Amino acid sequence: MLKSTTIECTKRLANHIQMARLLSKQIIIIIPLIALHSSFMVDATLPSVVKIGGLFENGDETVEMAFRDAIERINSDETVLPHTHLEAVIEKLERCDSFQASKRVCNLLHQDVAAVFGPQSVETSAHVQSTCDILHMPHMETRWDFKFDPPSNHSINLFPHPITLGNAFRDLIKLKNWKSFAILYEENEALVRMQEILKDPSLHEKRIVVRQFPISTGEYRTTFKELHKLAIRNVIVDVPREHIYSVLKHAQQVDMLSDYHNYFFSSLDVHTVDLEEFQYGGTNISGFSMVDTQARDFTAVVAKLQNDNYNWNGGDPLDSIYRMTEVALVYDAVRLFAQTLHDIDAANTYQQFQTENISCEREEPWKFGSIISNHMRNSNINGITGPLRFDESGSRADFKLRLLELTREGLKHVGDWTPAKRVTFMSNYTKAMTEIYRDTLKNKTLTVVTIPGKPYCMEVEDSETKPINERFEGYCIDLIKEIARILEFKYVIKLVDDGVHGRKNERGEWNGMIKELIEGKADIAVADLTITYEREAAVDFTMPFMSLGIGILYKKHKKEPPKLFSFMSPLAMDVWVYLITSFLGVTLFLFFVARFSPYEWVNPHPCVRDPDELKNNFSMKNTLWFTIGCLMQQGCDIMPRSLSTRVLAASWWFFILILVSSYTANLAAFLTVERMVNPIESAEDLSKQTKIPYGCLKSGSTEAFFKNSNFSTYARMWSFMESYRPSVFVESNSKGVERVEKGDYAYLMESTSIEYNIERKCDLYKVGSLLDSKGYGIATPPDSPYRSIISDAILKLQEDGKLHMLKDRWWSGKGRCGGQKETEKVSGSASELGLANVGGVFVVLAAGSCIAIIICIGEFIWKMKNIPRDDREHICVELLREIKYVICCYGNTRPIRKVSDTNPARNLIITSGNGLPYMNYHEMNNKNMYS
Ligand code: ASP
Repeated sequence: MLKSTTIECTKRLANHIQMARLLSKQIIIIIPLIALHSSFMVDATLPSVVKIGGLFENGDETVEMAFRDAIERINSDETVLPHTHLEAVIEKLERCDSFQASKRVCNLLHQDVAAVFGPQSVETSAHVQSTCDILHMPHMETRWDFKFDPPSNHSINLFPHPITLGNAFRDLIKLKNWKSFAILYEENEALVRMQEILKDPSLHEKRIVVRQFPISTGEYRTTFKELHKLAIRNVIVDVPREHIYSVLKHAQQVDMLSDYHNYFFSSLDVHTVDLEEFQYGGTNISGFSMVDTQARDFTAVVAKLQNDNYNWNGGDPLDSIYRMTEVALVYDAVRLFAQTLHDIDAANTYQQFQTENISCEREEPWKFGSIISNHMRNSNINGITGPLRFDESGSRADFKLRLLELTREGLKHVGDWTPAKRVTFMSNYTKAMTEIYRDTLKNKTLTVVTIPGKPYCMEVEDSETKPINERFEGYCIDLIKEIARILEFKYVIKLVDDGVHGRKNERGEWNGMIKELIEGKADIAVADLTITYEREAAVDFTMPFMSLGIGILYKKHKKEPPKLFSFMSPLAMDVWVYLITSFLGVTLFLFFVARFSPYEWVNPHPCVRDPDELKNNFSMKNTLWFTIGCLMQQGCDIMPRSLSTRVLAASWWFFILILVSSYTANLAAFLTVERMVNPIESAEDLSKQTKIPYGCLKSGSTEAFFKNSNFSTYARMWSFMESYRPSVFVESNSKGVERVEKGDYAYLMESTSIEYNIERKCDLYKVGSLLDSKGYGIATPPDSPYRSIISDAILKLQEDGKLHMLKDRWWSGKGRCGGQKETEKVSGSASELGLANVGGVFVVLAAGSCIAIIICIGEFIWKMKNIPRDDREHICVELLREIKYVICCYGNTRPIRKVSDTNPARNLIITSGNGLPYMNYHEMNNKNMYS
């Protein structure tokens, strides 16, 4: 009866506890105590001996010894259980034998134990756990449990829950912000530990390679060789603690242990591995540890472990040290149990605490089991593995993982992970790491990759005879010299193998300097290397050392040498032709109109009242003289009289007025302003035309800019460039500049290089404004530890004005067109007219004069021919005499030359002084008649 009441009470109590756990931790503490108080309130004392059962599999001798030691420590500590002696009851079992485990746990329960500890393997532990659960026996575990079993009421596990541990790994990896990494594991269950990393969406954009080491072969090199080929330098390794050394050794053998490599070991015992061999290589090796070296019992426990050689079965005497986490958890588990008994005893509110012989067959739960289990879950003590707190499911809560990193002084505690705060680094972490990297860099010899290009890296004369670093000069060469001086490292300059800056192809592979950095062929790239998003995802850039943007380099419109007949330029050739045609047409038309019009026929001798004949002034010669006189704006003594001819003349004058005004205005513009016609003023102009081809550097950021641009203008430009034949892409900037110089090619180039070239090549200029803005940076391999210290050096150079000095030295310092303003170069300017501009009019004048002379001589000869041979001398003699007479300027009169009577030309009157030295009578008469 009493027994059934007790069972009943215990069940009720368990129900109370279940409900209370749902409410809150505090309530959970109070409720069982109250419940117990009401049920069993009598004088409290613990029995003088309390047994604690331990289940240990073969091979777990270290754990067993730790268990015994821990009990011994508690027994020797007067403050914990002064009146009670803890006694270990050990049951041994075969590894992974669950049947045996079930039997052994029942054996233990028969022996009045107050709690069961172990075993360590998953297979056996599950059976023990369920037996303890049914019989309300407190069960303590310290093993990594990859099965997410439903929470048990009576089991607590001091080892962190797999998801919590996975979260810690994920948080750290996220913080490291690696661009790519590999997860290497040995046992399948490792993937459970890694699943939080693999599941995290923010890590999905990274390149993650997951590989399993060949099982049980101890061969890790093949996997590392593969990683080497894939250029992966960040590795998460999940192997048992005892394989860590071999893993690192194999990595070292295949060149996977440089200062650019990062290793994170998921084993919580990484701190027990001897890493001295690797601590000077500069490889970042890190891991978490649960063991708090500052804990009260830590030193004593380690000293004890070192003194006691747990090599019962001929195992490694240091195994207990190596399995430090497991051992520490065992100590903590025993301590937790002892402290719980202490608290129950101190509470002094319970019925006499009794252990019982529990039978697995009867399945009668132990009435004190739930009290102890709940007490343990609500404990708040600190152990060697930090605070011993548990959540409702009995999993470790609020614990701390210590982040360790290998330095030259060995593994250092650099930060912590807690479920609440995630990863926090020590306050001096960054500074300390910077110092470490600075030290590593000192006296190191870095391979500096660069690319030839003016003025960044140029070959000096006789370069073959000089040491490699002296073969080049330029801005980047000086820059790396300055940085090396500040950071005290040595370097060897190397030109990039494929001669390009670096571009990612469709398959995601890089070329150029970026490729060499990724593949580890170079440690640093110092060149006119533009920082881009795509490149930043593949390598690391320092802060920019120069700002720039894409511009357009084009050849200035060449000033044409002035033409001799440039006075004809204001009117197009066809206009001149039309003008002459109009002139002849109007002349003819006027001639006929004047002859037709009766008013143009007038009395030639106004004194004669009734003339016999009428005269028309518009003879063909006169009409020509009239139209040309008007055209030349000189006027003429012949004027139209009739309305018809006046209308025609007025139209002709109007035509001339407009034409001459237009000509004059245009002539002024043509002759005085030298107009620069720029066919392109901006990228927009370029994109809208197809006459002038344009291109950029091959495999560079400029090419990538156009290729990836969504902006319609640039996208249009890209499709033009891509399709244009012959190709508009060039191998180097100098080839691009050469092509621009040849003409009819616009080169899309970075503004700094444009600046350099237009300083030296005065016939080139920069078109319009820049298309974007960006910077040049020094690139380092991905996740390089040296990036930030090189950035610091650049900052220092910038603050000291050194960067400015270097720019000055290599840009304006050696220029030839420095003084010339860009605007002046582009726009036109007014200037005085030279002979070249107006020479044509002199030619016309000279030609006119020559023609006049020829005609004049012709006239003279013609007249002489009409004089009889007897009355004159030879024509040449006459001509010379006349020339002499003209040159001597004897006056404005001359005597008339007489002609003989027999001469048929006797009537010829020779006059002088009026420019008509010879004129015969008939001619005079005729003239009177017709003119
Ligand atoms: N500086 C550029 C680069 O880094 C070269 C260019 O595309 O003009 O690729």
